[in-house]
Amino acid sequence: MKNNIGNAMEFIEIDGSQGEGGGQVLRTALSLSACTGRAMHIRHIRNGRRKPGLMRQHLACVQAAAAICNAEVKGASLGSKNIQFVPNEIEAGNYRFSVGSAGSSTLIFQTALPLLMLAGKPSLLQLEGGTHNPLAPSYDFIHEVFLPILRQIGVDCQAQIDRYGFYPVGGGQWSVTIEPKSDFCRIDLTERGALLKAEAVCIEAGLPAHVAEREIKRLRKKLNWPEDAFGRLKVKALGGGNVVSLRSYYRHATEVIDSIGVIGVSAERVASNAVEQLRRYQNNGAPVGEHLADQLLLPLALTKGGSFVAGPPSEHVRTNIVVIKQFLDIDIQCEEIAPKRQWRISVEKRM
Ligand code: ATP
Repeated sequence: MKNNIGNAMEFIEIDGSQGEGGGQVLRTALSLSACTGRAMHIRHIRNGRRKPGLMRQHLACVQAAAAICNAEVKGASLGSKNIQFVPNEIEAGNYRFSVGSAGSSTLIFQTALPLLMLAGKPSLLQLEGGTHNPLAPSYDFIHEVFLPILRQIGVDCQAQIDRYGFYPVGGGQWSVTIEPKSDFCRIDLTERGALLKAEAVCIEAGLPAHVAEREIKRLRKKLNWPEDAFGRLKVKALGGGNVVSLRSYYRHATEVIDSIGVIGVSAERVASNAVEQLRRYQNNGAPVGEHLADQLLLPLALTKGGSFVAGPPSEHVRTNIVVIKQFLDIDIQCEEIAPKRQWRISVEKRM
């Protein structure tokens, strides 16, 4: 393949099975290829997973990135383990993407955001699919945790949900406006500050009332929170669904922990799972939670950099760092600052 001045195209070679070996390697590589304008060839996509290759939600991410930067793509089909992605100019605008299944639509947002954040003009992203999926950021996590930090970086994002999407029906609908300001800011997230508010929300769609009642009963037993910290939220969705969402608002940090209700798992277990995750967040004292840590790396690497304090770096964090370094000349360090509890992760552009 030749580039637009007739020279042989140089592809960055990405091993999709490296490190964590899942969809995140693909999404990070897509975003970076589009943002740097560098063509890439990714092989062994999701080889670390039981069903490797592109599933519907991963294919939707490829298509979204390609549409926003007008890329030429080879190999973008269901089950494919190998794609070539040759980006063009990124264009701000109004985009609508659908997963076409109950797969996570927030992961399309994760892929598209870096592109639209650098597009220089406002965009509107309308998304359809799952909004609350296991092993993916929920809409609430994006809204309460991720977007406030993007605003600190200098990207004014406002999201709105019209319909929730749960497995197996999907069909959630939400949108987000992305307005980059004229300049980005460096951020340093070093401490939580005082706890201002904690709340537990049992989200329910089309389920018998006893599900949320039992979840709240279990949460009350396990969490020493005031009576009015526990609430129920009945939402609109095409199918049934349930989430226990524990939200902690500190002066300088917010964490949302979601435990998704699954058929065959008791309401009490769903509630206890959320509390166990919350305890881990509470115990390490770091402002940035496990999942936010891997999701912040790309926005920081593509803007003014910065640092944050988080718990032990996950495999997602470590893998993302390796993929980012394949595209950008950047220094990313993880330094253990409180033994086994806290790490400072710094992302610095080289001069
Ligand atoms: P695969 O099917 O290959 O596992 P995937 O694309 O669904 O791929 P990962 O590659 O594991 O999933 O990436 C999942 C992303 O979702 C990561 O960025 C991770 O931080 C985020 N994530 C997972 N669980 C949560 C959660 N409970 N809250 C917020 N974010 C989450």
